[in-house]
Amino acid sequence: MKITDVICHVLLVPEVHAEDTDSAQDDAVVEIHTDEGLVGIGETDTNPWAVRALIESPSTHTMGMGLKEILVGADPLDTEALWDRMYTGTMHYGRRGLGVSAIGALDMALWDLKGKALGEPCWKLLGGARQEAVRPYASLQPRGRSLEQYCDSLSEWVVKAKDFGFAAAKLEATLTGPYAHSGLDEPEEATVDVVAACREAAGPDFVLMVDVQYAWSNARQALRTLKRLEPLDLFFVETPLQIDDLDGYAFLHDHLGIRIAAGEWQTTRFEFLDLMDRGKVDVAQPDVGRVGGLTEAKRICDCAADRGRLIVPHCWKTGIGISASVHMAATAPNCPYVEYLPAELCQSALRKELVSEELRMKRGVIPLPEKPGLGIELSRDALERFAWREGR
Ligand SMILES: [Mg+2]
Repeated sequence: MKITDVICHVLLVPEVHAEDTDSAQDDAVVEIHTDEGLVGIGETDTNPWAVRALIESPSTHTMGMGLKEILVGADPLDTEALWDRMYTGTMHYGRRGLGVSAIGALDMALWDLKGKALGEPCWKLLGGARQEAVRPYASLQPRGRSLEQYCDSLSEWVVKAKDFGFAAAKLEATLTGPYAHSGLDEPEEATVDVVAACREAAGPDFVLMVDVQYAWSNARQALRTLKRLEPLDLFFVETPLQIDDLDGYAFLHDHLGIRIAAGEWQTTRFEFLDLMDRGKVDVAQPDVGRVGGLTEAKRICDCAADRGRLIVPHCWKTGIGISASVHMAATAPNCPYVEYLPAELCQSALRKELVSEELRMKRGVIPLPEKPGLGIELSRDALERFAWREGR
């Protein structure tokens, strides 16, 4: 079997709100076609126009290759070997960040293809399942332009998530810092009040996580507020500091009685090694597409397991990325939860409509997918409707 074509779709929801902290408004979806008629699907969570440019660029030298040119003509079953060829062939401009996230979409599509070609779900080909089902947590983004509305909306979402069958949820309690929601800029104590109200609404047995989205620029200052969250029994606190302040992360790990989670923006195992070894992060959060695809995500799970750390993947795109996350989690020895935004509880039309057949939660868990590959079906109609066109 040979790869005959690589297509990258740039997708956008009909009304983009650039002031929202919501990357589910755009998408880069790739299709890898073969001479046997099989097609693999992948996606990645980064600037979709830039991903398309990296895929379609012509090659100019051995370390400045275009990704499509690397793949066309190759055997799609050579997943790991192709990862190396893509990584090495783009080293001049890639190696981290965007370059790796573009590889991630393609690697995901190659695993989907491999599964379809061999008639097996990806988790089987990645080494087999280490858990019988994958446990999702609901990722909750509040609304409201005042602190009171924000707090009420988040508490309501917690109750809805519980009623929906979730055993765990993550609160985006981001009231200060660069990603504060809806232009809010509240005193630091407000974060404690909001989380306390949600704990009250959730009851004692529900698992709660909190994402403060890089709220603080100083670890000692962050610690003062985070200490006050300790009695609220949180599973983790996500990204309290700027992600490049790895010494600050290590300081919080040493002084706080709550696990620290980070890694949603990281690419490659090399960045995760820094995060875990220097930053002492307790919970690593690879996003399968961004991090370099299933090939690289699996390596990160293994590195984390070697260090006794947990994996709880980031995922804020469509049913494509969710499926990749679930296949990865099934094979990981150390993944208690995956991030999961049910179509029923989300705002993004892309999230709701792009994938016509996707993995679903049943009785609080996502059963192991049985279909070949990622086990999802794209809606061709949605692919057409959400396609970005110049000047639209
Ligand atoms: Mg986050």
